[in-house]
Amino acid sequence: MSVTNKHVVISGGGSGVGAAMASRFATAGAKVTILGRRMEPLQQVAKENGCFAATCDVTDRMSLDVALAQAEARNGAVNIAIANAGAAPSTPFAKMTPEDLTGTLAVNLGGVFNLWQACLTGMKADGWGRMIAVASTAGLKGFPYVSGYCAAKHGVVGLTRALALELARTGITVNAICPGFIETPLLERSIETIMVKTGRSRDEAIASLAKGNPQGRLIQPEEVAETALWLAGDGSASINGSALPISGGEI
Ligand code: NAP
Repeated sequence: MSVTNKHVVISGGGSGVGAAMASRFATAGAKVTILGRRMEPLQQVAKENGCFAATCDVTDRMSLDVALAQAEARNGAVNIAIANAGAAPSTPFAKMTPEDLTGTLAVNLGGVFNLWQACLTGMKADGWGRMIAVASTAGLKGFPYVSGYCAAKHGVVGLTRALALELARTGITVNAICPGFIETPLLERSIETIMVKTGRSRDEAIASLAKGNPQGRLIQPEEVAETALWLAGDGSASINGSALPISGGEI
């Protein structure tokens, strides 16, 4: 496998998509570092997959730099940076505060900026690197009640496209993955919100989300992990600046 012995850093690696990626990259022989704010879920995933875990807040560059220094001391320079940490709070636009917007942009867009920029020097020195963001179909189209999240994820797609061109001659590729609704703790929180706000049952709430996918189902975290593994390999060296939907044909 072309990721064997490569050092991959996955933000938000303690749950959902990030945990599935940690497992998939570890199986493929990569040296895996997972980051997040809570040590407990990180430790669980690290124990199961032989990863290195470090806590940090991706919105805080200093805390991220400290975690990356620990990771590099253990696993060497970062070769593959997967900016996966994110949050999708839902609020009607009229009720959104400026702080709501700033917070959503900070984690979903600022977190990508911080991780990628922190890993850039090492990748440039190596002449090889992979920057991958987990954006969303919300980076390619609008959804109601998550305007801040949609703005942030559209921002991630823009950042990806611009940086891919800027780095095109360096051996580094930059790509975004844009999944539809994935069965993870984040979606679980959305399901609970729908149940509370609309009085729907759990099954009805899930069905209302799954119907947006022409395949009529929720996406599994392992499907996103498989796409990241492919993007990280040498076989995808010409895939650059893409925003790849994983959505059963939704977009
Ligand atoms: P999740 O299980 O809630 O994972 C999000 C992870 O991000 C958590 O492990 C969380 O850990 C971490 N995180 C959040 N804020 C952070 C911060 N400030 N600093 C460091 N880590 C932070 O949800 P998920 O569905 O796997 O989400 C992964 C990515 O997929 C997100 O970018 C999300 O927007 C995207 N996505 C999800 C869906 C979906 O339907 N689930 C669809 C499309 C895209 P801590 O709380 O411990 O920090």
